[in-house]
Amino acid sequence: MSLVTTPTSTLATCGYCGSVRVTSISMTLTDGTPVDFASCHTCERRSWSASGSALALNSVLDRARKIK
Ligand SMILES: [Zn+2]
Repeated sequence: MSLVTTPTSTLATCGYCGSVRVTSISMTLTDGTPVDFASCHTCERRSWSASGSALALNSVLDRARKIK
């Protein structure tokens, strides 16, 4: 799995517990899909989204696997 990461310092809010202790990272998957990864430090939930809608982890991994 190869991801090109572009760290940003966006202030995000956890969609599960509402905590602002969230690390949000924007990155581009191997197939060119721009996604946002959010990791909550309070409830330890991690979520992916693309263009504002939630992405399933499997979907992210599928896209990241398309290397060629
Ligand atoms: Zn949370």
